Amino acid sequence: MAVCDICDTPGQGTIVKAGDMSRAVRNGFNPFKAGLAPDIMEEMVGESSYDSWRESAINGPTSTTDWNVCADCIEVLKPYLGKAAKSEDSHTCDFCGKIFARSDTVAMVDDSVAEKMEQLCGFHRKGQASALDPAGRLRWVACQECTNQFHQAAKGFLKKQ
Ligand SMILES: [Zn+2]
Ligand SMILES: [Zn+2]
Repeated sequence: MAVCDICDTPGQGTIVKAGDMSRAVRNGFNPFKAGLAPDIMEEMVGESSYDSWRESAINGPTSTTDWNVCADCIEVLKPYLGKAAKSEDSHTCDFCGKIFARSDTVAMVDDSVAEKMEQLCGFHRKGQASALDPAGRLRWVACQECTNQFHQAAKGFLKKQ
């Protein structure tokens, strides 16, 4: 009998494609933190199972097989899947909300730069950082216009100093 690949609840649930799952994990899905799966490692040796679980789901053995996910787990997983699907062929500027093609120039900035952009340009970030750099860190996405605007503002700011 099938069991949920996240929490071991018996039964046939929703099949989540291996690629969709690994993207959801890269987007921050953590079943231990969400309370879906008991963190046995944490209980036994005080070290979270999450890192090795994450590595397996992104690059390891579980990254190549589809997942059977029960109704409870899919509810928690859904937002992470949705975000991934949207970012596949387009980016949303985290500053002005514009949606643009992945092939367009895009700037990915960390928290400190994003804060500067808000200070200097009066931008207001929407939601959460929506991109991941190759090292898997969350980055804010800025479209070409917002980036230009920031460069102009930064120049003016430096001149004033
Ligand atoms: Zn489950
Ligand atoms: Zn923008």
